[in-house]
Amino acid sequence: MSAHIIDGKAFAAKLREQVAAEVDLLKEETGRVPGLAVVLVGEDPASQVYVRNKGKATVEAGMESLEFRLPAETSETELIAKVEELNNDQNVHGILVQLPLPKHISEEAVIAAIHPDKDVDGFHVMNSGKLMTGQASLVPCTPQGCLLLLKDVLGGDLSGKHAVVLGRSNIVGKPMAMLLLAEHCTVTIAHSRTRDIAALVRQADILVAAVGRSELVKQSWVKPGAVVIDVGINRVVEGEKARLVGDVAFEEVAQVASAITPVPGGVGPMTIACLLRNTLTAFRASL
Ligand code: NAD
Repeated sequence: MSAHIIDGKAFAAKLREQVAAEVDLLKEETGRVPGLAVVLVGEDPASQVYVRNKGKATVEAGMESLEFRLPAETSETELIAKVEELNNDQNVHGILVQLPLPKHISEEAVIAAIHPDKDVDGFHVMNSGKLMTGQASLVPCTPQGCLLLLKDVLGGDLSGKHAVVLGRSNIVGKPMAMLLLAEHCTVTIAHSRTRDIAALVRQADILVAAVGRSELVKQSWVKPGAVVIDVGINRVVEGEKARLVGDVAFEEVAQVASAITPVPGGVGPMTIACLLRNTLTAFRASL
């Protein structure tokens, strides 16, 4: 068997068009547009690229993009003051503080300072609590994107499937597991301390890998016909060249899976599209 390659780039482009069309409509109705504020502390090169891409996508969707670049030595108090200023700004509907933050700043404290209604990353405990208890909330972008791809490929019905989520982070693994549970999957969360992980993964109808280990998941781990979503983004350096690989050994797993996301071009583009979707949701709720 050779898997269907899930085109996250095309799916995300469609989603972004839908968001842009709705922004247009709301602009006509209200005379206002959603505003997304992104705060970057320090000069981490990868974060700078992410922030630039987010700003570009925001403008392309017809929204207002506000970028705040603060020096690496910004204190936690100063950063929280900036967040509070954005909480009180009527033109800002979404606030995203780019992670990771410099070591002297508590990410937990900064996330807690963001107003839950503007928390477009969905990391605030209020939003994770709502997700856990099945209430409408702003859902973290990456798992939200994974779920949209899964529902598309499985015709909308995930009920009764055994989903194995590799990784238990607050930004991907845990919210992914909650979303799959809400879709009536039987969910197993595996992590770095899980015993005989290959045998566990082999039971999965749906596998979501979010561990950050290059090509950890081998063909022999995957049940024939499983749907595989690869969240991992790992940089592998070979001689002078660097390339990105996922947490799944793509070529070999594609021989047995029924559908699989590539890296790059799978989950990655969905994350930004879902950020725009969350910003639109936050804007709509503010009207
Ligand atoms: P994290 O480091 O916070 O968490 C990794 C998780 O994997 C942990 O829960 C750990 O227990 C588990 N783990 C580590 N080694 C393992 C092993 N050998 N076997 C089983 N489990 C293991 O990472 P994260 O923030 O959740 O991100 C995971 C990956 O997804 C990274 O590669 C990251 O770059 C990528 N990512 C991609 C996007 C995107 O937009 N595509 C977004 C977020 C994260």
